Amino acid sequence: MDEKTLATVKELLKAPRKIVVVGHKNPDGDAIGSCLGLSFVLNRLGHKVETIMPNDFPDFLKWLPGAEHIIIHDKQTDESISAITKADIIFTLDFNALNRVGDMQQFLEDADASFVMIDHHQQPDDYAIATYSDPSMSSTSEMVYHFMEAIDELGTLCLEVSTHLYTGIMTDTGSFRFSSTTATTHKVVAHLIEIGAKPHKIHENVYDVNSPDKLKLLGVALNNLNIHPEYRTAFITLSQKELDTHNFRKGDTEGFVNYALSVEGVIFAAIFIENKQEGIVKISFRSKGDFSVNKLAREHYNGGGHVNAAGGRSTRSLSNTVSEFISILPQYKAELNDAE
Ligand code: 5GP
Ligand code: MN
Repeated sequence: MDEKTLATVKELLKAPRKIVVVGHKNPDGDAIGSCLGLSFVLNRLGHKVETIMPNDFPDFLKWLPGAEHIIIHDKQTDESISAITKADIIFTLDFNALNRVGDMQQFLEDADASFVMIDHHQQPDDYAIATYSDPSMSSTSEMVYHFMEAIDELGTLCLEVSTHLYTGIMTDTGSFRFSSTTATTHKVVAHLIEIGAKPHKIHENVYDVNSPDKLKLLGVALNNLNIHPEYRTAFITLSQKELDTHNFRKGDTEGFVNYALSVEGVIFAAIFIENKQEGIVKISFRSKGDFSVNKLAREHYNGGGHVNAAGGRSTRSLSNTVSEFISILPQYKAELNDAE
């Protein structure tokens, strides 16, 4: 964090404040982990803190300390609006543009609060008076650790916060294997374990809770795997009907796209998930090496993310989304074949 940002944040936190900490829509482990971790720290520093998510989050994150107090905007709308309206400071974590909070966007835009962004996505928007953005970071949860270090508050690390941050770093790095994982990431994680985070427990709580329906849905997804070796590309589709048949619950498809990326020779993978209620197909992209899915998601799917992990959406039908996807692959043929 640069000196100016640090000075601004220190000034903001000098006296007890009403603070709201917000994560992105369809929150993942990093959004929940970083927001809960920061909320606990700010609370310990004497501020009044509310943690808000635009919509619900997967069951495999519900065990996290304090998760039961998170306000879900689309279910507890009045409570959420009231907290946003009263806030002196709003921290936005793990996203880089206000449209990433869905229907909450207008309330954030109307708020009188000072905004602070902590995020590791590329090309952050300029809405905060203090922007701590670092796309080289493994996760926003790792950034919350560095943020605590910068404001001289690593002493407030406790069992709960170490558990939050460990969970966020673990989920966003694919259990410490993506290229964003650095020696510093491991040093941070080592410290979190010293404070009390229990790696085997956290791993178990997050990954070993598969319902039979989820595993059968994975079977369907794998059956729907399409491979285009000439483009080093593989993708998976899931229709609303296939989701319904398997009693789809939020988070059930988390990680499915990685199976497409694990196909020998493949460096670009996608999963297309139909959402009839929202009238969209939600897309997750993953890549290996220097092929940027952030760029592709921005160019074609009103989305974004990181070089190797991004998302977007299409308002076409599932089959038209897939045909369109196949039709744009030739534009990327050279990039895909030259990628290292
Ligand atoms: P996932 O595929 O796991 O949902 O998301 C992968 C990455 O892309 C995450 O960092 C996420 O924040 C980002 N991402 C996913 N969907 C969208 C989207 O619709 N718009 C933008 N800008 N980023 C997205
Ligand atoms: Mn993240």
